Amino acid sequence: MSSSDDRALVLNPILCDGRGLCQEAAPDLIELDEWGYPLMRGGGLRIRLSRDDEQQARAAVQSCPKLALHMER
Ligand code: SF4
Repeated sequence: MSSSDDRALVLNPILCDGRGLCQEAAPDLIELDEWGYPLMRGGGLRIRLSRDDEQQARAAVQSCPKLALHMER
């Protein structure tokens, strides 16, 4: 049986144009670097999601006009 605990939010930096909409949608998961480009909380391009994180992760994916974010297992 699957659960939300084995999901992750992943950023493709090649597609990202750095406007930061995802960080506004998911401030607990995404931070912006000094140039305004997103990184996952703690650094890096991928973050594992707890059940509590999933709503913000979905909001971040939906907020991105460049389709640079997705969720995966
Ligand atoms: S919303 Fe998408 S394009 Fe904008 S900063 Fe976030 S990942 Fe990059």
